[in-house]
Amino acid sequence: MTLRTKTQDLDKASLISQRVANIAPSGIRKFFDLLASMEGVISLGIGEPDFATPYHIREAAIASIERGYTMYTPNTGIAELRTELSQYLNRTTGLTYDPNSQVLITVGVSEGMDLAARALINPGDEVLIPDPSYVSYSACVILAGGKPVMIPTSEETRFEISVETAEALITPKTKAILIGYPANPTGAVMPREKLLQIAELARRYNLVMISDEIYSQLVYDCEHICVAALPGMQERTVFLGGFSKAYAMTGWRIGYAVASAEIIAAMTKIHQYTIMSAPTMSQIAALEALKNGGESAREMVADYNRRRLVMVEGLCDIGLSCFNPQGAFYAFPSIRSTGMTSEEFAHNLLKEEKVAVVPGNAFGKCGEGYVRCCYATSLKELYEALERIKRFLNRRGIGN
Ligand code: PLP
Repeated sequence: MTLRTKTQDLDKASLISQRVANIAPSGIRKFFDLLASMEGVISLGIGEPDFATPYHIREAAIASIERGYTMYTPNTGIAELRTELSQYLNRTTGLTYDPNSQVLITVGVSEGMDLAARALINPGDEVLIPDPSYVSYSACVILAGGKPVMIPTSEETRFEISVETAEALITPKTKAILIGYPANPTGAVMPREKLLQIAELARRYNLVMISDEIYSQLVYDCEHICVAALPGMQERTVFLGGFSKAYAMTGWRIGYAVASAEIIAAMTKIHQYTIMSAPTMSQIAALEALKNGGESAREMVADYNRRRLVMVEGLCDIGLSCFNPQGAFYAFPSIRSTGMTSEEFAHNLLKEEKVAVVPGNAFGKCGEGYVRCCYATSLKELYEALERIKRFLNRRGIGN
């Protein structure tokens, strides 16, 4: 064995664990590092509300800091917040969760997802995940030692998962199904009948459901179906939710997980060793959001709906066919008619017209041929972005 003696001999890459070395950095962030240095870019990129957090929510957090409320909270979160959340979930879904044993306040859905994966997955366990889907899903499964198995979806079937396709992918190693509807990047919403079929599949094969419902309040002309509220599903579902999108609170890093007491206890074990407790002032802000934020959230959603119509109609008018998104704040137009790959399209559009969109392949193989456009930006910017995309297409003989 050779001993390393000099710093310059150190192969730093070899220090990184195989598990981490094997996952690619987020396709979204990779692309956005590119535009950090550019001026005059209209970003339809990062999936984040353009609103500031409603004033009364900010005020509640400021007041708590001024009162000196700056210490750790209980590991699972402030009792009043857990109670308020369980009442909110009861009102909105009909479900009952014990605030003392079935609710965990997390650092966003991001942490909830990681905890769920680590608490449930044994090495080699397989987890079914829709393709395309949010970039963190498969990464969290891999980091937890599991194997993501992608369920292909397509625009032809409205990016919904087909129960037959999912069932064909089940093996003795399948442990869980991880879904997130309304969906990022497509804006798809699974109708009740389809979700009932997936729920029945989970029960028949004894699978856990991990359901990311961060966009539950952002639905247009349809209802949100809570997976845990489907018959027989509460006990086998890890239900993840958050404040980032509906209350424009991305920077506060606050969300929640609710599930059986056994699963929450397991997730809390990891959380207490790695996080301790979610940020105290963010928990106070979340409490205010739940108590008094409904009106502001509804106003923002109504605004997103107006922008959605402008965006989807605008994209179709300029020559890009676009699936009609019923939730979240993303449009997912097909760019196949341009003959470019999604990465080429996104790079060329950024270079030539300074409009940033995310290549669809960042969300899985089935996202190739599409780009994700986040319409949570002002109408003025949306119109300008559409104008620029139109010019970009016209130069290639597409559109009028
Ligand atoms: N889940 C989905 C589907 C998302 O789109 C995002 C953020 O874009 C997250 C989770 C992360 O949520 P949070 O800010 O609560 O960590």
